Amino acid sequence: MNVLIVEDEKSLASEIAAFLEKEHYLVEMAHTGMEASEKIAVNLYDFILLDLGLPDYDGLDLLREAKEMNHEAAFIIITARGEVSEKVKGLDLGADDYIAKPFSLLELNSRMAAIARRKFGQRTSHINFGQFSLDPLSRKVMCHEREVDLTKKQFDLLHYLLLNKNRALTRMQLYEHIWGNMLGDEYDSNFIDVHIKNLRKKLAEYAPVEWLETVRGVGYRANID
Ligand code: CA
Repeated sequence: MNVLIVEDEKSLASEIAAFLEKEHYLVEMAHTGMEASEKIAVNLYDFILLDLGLPDYDGLDLLREAKEMNHEAAFIIITARGEVSEKVKGLDLGADDYIAKPFSLLELNSRMAAIARRKFGQRTSHINFGQFSLDPLSRKVMCHEREVDLTKKQFDLLHYLLLNKNRALTRMQLYEHIWGNMLGDEYDSNFIDVHIKNLRKKLAEYAPVEWLETVRGVGYRANID
């Protein structure tokens, strides 16, 4: 996803940019309102981080203009601490979130991730693995153009393994997450093995499933890059 950082403090803008690039965002910067306005008019961004205190422009006007153009970016307003009324105006104008200076980059990142899940869920939620892809919204698993016919529990089991990709999950974790908490010794470790076996068998009708690994003494892991 791409991000426009609108911030006149160049060192802060560069610091945010370097951080977000490491998080795999494509980043552009604008150090003035005018520059930002020109960029917003011609480019599409997923996120615009907007400092309201710009020397040449009222940040809120920039937001208003972008909204009038139906720009689809998610806006995160950056304010100085205490600018409550500005923040409220920004949210009223359709900003998605705000963050007060000084802020932690990790916090910024988690807020962006939350917005992405909310706003861009449809675009980002596909999970590709092996020759398959899973869409949690339509709850479909596709292998090339073919839909893989899975039961609800098989889908849930696969989805949970994929959400926790590259992590070994115990049979107990899989059981609790997908079938819910159980009482004491009702738990039978063969139960998950049988379900995994059936899931593998089903998927293997479409394409190789070597990415779904049995981790000895632990449980199972989906190995995905
Ligand atoms: Ca500023």
